[in-house]
Amino acid sequence: MLKENLSNVENAVQEACLKSARKRSEVTLIAVSKTKPVELLKEAYDAGIRDFGENKVQEICEKYDRLPSDIRWHMIGHLQRNKVKYIIDKVCMIHSVDSYRLAEEINIQAKKHKLVMPILLEINIADEQTKFGVSREDAILLAEEIAHLDSVRVEGLMAVAPYVEDAEDNRKYFQQLKKLAVDIQRKNIDNINMHALSIGMTGDFAVAIEEGSTMVRVGTGIFGERDYGHPASFQ
Ligand SMILES: *Cc1c(COP(=O)(O)O)cnc(C)c1O
Repeated sequence: MLKENLSNVENAVQEACLKSARKRSEVTLIAVSKTKPVELLKEAYDAGIRDFGENKVQEICEKYDRLPSDIRWHMIGHLQRNKVKYIIDKVCMIHSVDSYRLAEEINIQAKKHKLVMPILLEINIADEQTKFGVSREDAILLAEEIAHLDSVRVEGLMAVAPYVEDAEDNRKYFQQLKKLAVDIQRKNIDNINMHALSIGMTGDFAVAIEEGSTMVRVGTGIFGERDYGHPASFQ
């Protein structure tokens, strides 16, 4: 079943690339494996997946030890400053940076490990009260503040679009995010790059790719529905 899901998602990714005249290699498919058991991640790994997305520090740490070391772990969830130290040497990118204080802590921990951590700025693209992320207005300011931190590298923007029945309803938000990335890039801020756009989930990744996504984060479409009520270890 996972194999079939994966091939359906992969086909849809390829189709969206074709439709928008983009190369398949420009888009990274991140399998969002939160709440799912390691056995299922192993299956995805065996089917060729190397990029996994998780939103909880503890879950990353537990899974990290039990799965192959060539996996690229992406932190995509809200991150508390006091937990940065647990994942700093485990993840390849932190997608969810929405404050200077968090970036500063990532910088401190990265320096300790003599590494430079790639990060994305999370934008609350639809101004939803329930969502994390900075407003579009504050994004440039945040980028300018973070620019002088030399052990983090801003690679682009990330957003969690609203949940919609019709993916077309999110197209405008994806366009706005792309435009914001272009605007920030034009400012030529030292140490700030805007080549990565982490947008698109199960319901809307095809539209996101058409609008310039370079990283789609697909959970349900690959692993099936999540059962938050199940008394498993990953909650
Ligand atoms: C859970 C999650 C996803 C994946 O959502 P699906 O709709 O299951 O594809 C993507 N991004 C973030 C930040 C998430 O928390």
